[in-house]
Amino acid sequence: MTQQFDVVVIGGGPGGYIAAIRAAQLGSSVACVDAWTDANNKPSLGGTCLNVGCIPSKAMLESSENYERALHHFAEHGVRIGQVSLDLKQMLARKDKIVDQLTGGVAYLFKKNKVASFHGQGSLAGHTDAGFKVVIKQTGGETILHGRHIIIATGSVVRPLPAAPVDNHLILDNVGALAMTEVPKRLGIIGAGVIGLEMGSVWKRLGSEVTILEALPAFLPPVDDQLSKEAFRILTKDKGLAIHLGAKVTKVERKAKALKVHYTDAKGQQILEVDRLMVAVGRAPNTEGLNLGSVGVNVEAHGFIEVDDHCRTATPGIWAVGDVVRGPMLAHKAEEEGVAVAEQIAGQQSHVDFSTIPWVIYTAPEIAWVGQTEQQLKAQGIEYRSGSYPFAANGRAKSLGETRGFVKILACKRTDRILGVHILGPFASELITEAVVALEFRASSEDIARIVHAHPALSEAFHEAALAVDGRALNM
Ligand code: FAD
Ligand code: NAD
Repeated sequence: MTQQFDVVVIGGGPGGYIAAIRAAQLGSSVACVDAWTDANNKPSLGGTCLNVGCIPSKAMLESSENYERALHHFAEHGVRIGQVSLDLKQMLARKDKIVDQLTGGVAYLFKKNKVASFHGQGSLAGHTDAGFKVVIKQTGGETILHGRHIIIATGSVVRPLPAAPVDNHLILDNVGALAMTEVPKRLGIIGAGVIGLEMGSVWKRLGSEVTILEALPAFLPPVDDQLSKEAFRILTKDKGLAIHLGAKVTKVERKAKALKVHYTDAKGQQILEVDRLMVAVGRAPNTEGLNLGSVGVNVEAHGFIEVDDHCRTATPGIWAVGDVVRGPMLAHKAEEEGVAVAEQIAGQQSHVDFSTIPWVIYTAPEIAWVGQTEQQLKAQGIEYRSGSYPFAANGRAKSLGETRGFVKILACKRTDRILGVHILGPFASELITEAVVALEFRASSEDIARIVHAHPALSEAFHEAALAVDGRALNM
């Protein structure tokens, strides 16, 4: 049997499911094909983000931070709670429940918006008079769909490291690292990027000795240098993560219950013995089995589907969004591309501005930024003024007991327009949105300095940093 739709979306992650909903809102008949199955072999919408990415990792970050607070920080507030113990089974069950609620929520939204949902592996099979043909492989058969437009949103997969093949028993990727039922005594992580730092923080708080091996000699190169230096100091000295930079893994030996990780660094050959090893060296676009050639769609050298600034492939009517195309691998970027494509299909003029996409790393303290770093401005020869304000001087941060870090604003020396905002501190993930709005509205630091901010609030640090650009911070 074949069914015809205006739009067929392949992939039900944040890029795909949001594109499907927006296209349906705009009056198209829409189908979404998604292959994800959960640990119980049940279809589960929401892709990497909801199933094994953003959401479960943030649930575990919150739970592990609560555990750490109960262990070490409640007493300082005058809260005595006796012996604290870890119930990892409950922590994982809570995480799974949140995932179930949100993935079920996507299924509900599909029903509400009349998006036809198909479970199975989709592949393209050329073009007919009825539109582009999509074949869905399902248990016990296949279904054929035709779409006038196709939106490919098949996401990304873990980048493999040949020296450390993932088995999700001893050597883990994000799926395994989010589901360990025991706290490993020694956890090794390859890659000090976003995932390595977030998952390293979780398991360190729960009691593991965590060692992270990073190939590059620099820590978090995309982050503003001043922030990455301070973050490195806090994460290693205060939070106890052992992070080795310039460490190149050459071989991993499997013992009965442990692993010997061989690597080289500036001092020569090294060996790290761990009980579990996580691989977090980046993610690669996922185009496997899509049969892109049948519709004339190309991939670039790194495997990303080739698209222009508007997510159009070389074949009119075929679009691609999210992790499977160039740009940051972030859920909010995927979602906004999904919206922009659905709107373009409906004849609107939509696009996504990469220069104002916020980044967040959910360590404690959190790291968040938008716009340009100081090193980028210097490299381009752009003259700027900088204003910083420490959370240690902010009343709300003090009452939270979270005084590490600072807000830093970079503004054009000539026009005062804000060019970049960098935050290391509590709830940086929330605070950064004010900076995104400022950049989108082309605000100057003076604009922010003249806006009334609630007191006492963490956002006052943003206000003071704006005042500091002009050398007139009031509480410093
Ligand atoms: P995905 O979410 O990967 O979804 C793709 C979907 O397509 C999947 O369901 C897949 O099964 C399906 N699919 C693939 N091929 C086919 C096919 N042929 N037929 C049918 N279905 C198919 N980003 C953030 O912004 N914030 C975070 O805090 C964050 N945390 C993360 C934590 C971890 C541990 C990881 C791994 C990632 C995290 N990310 C985060 C990144 C974020 O998850 C991705 O950027 C986002 O999921 C990309 O969305 P997408 O729709 O492009 O792809
Ligand atoms: P990443 O690119 O952030 O970090 C990978 C790190 O591994 C880099 O520092 C890289 O230099 C290092 N590396 C690469 N090869 C190595 C090797 N052989 N040995 C040692 N180190 C090596 O990638 P990730 O942490 O895997 O995350 C993947 C993507 O998921 C990111 O692009 C990110 O956008 C997204 N993500 C976002 C969030 C968030 O927004 N909070 C959280 C998790 C993941």
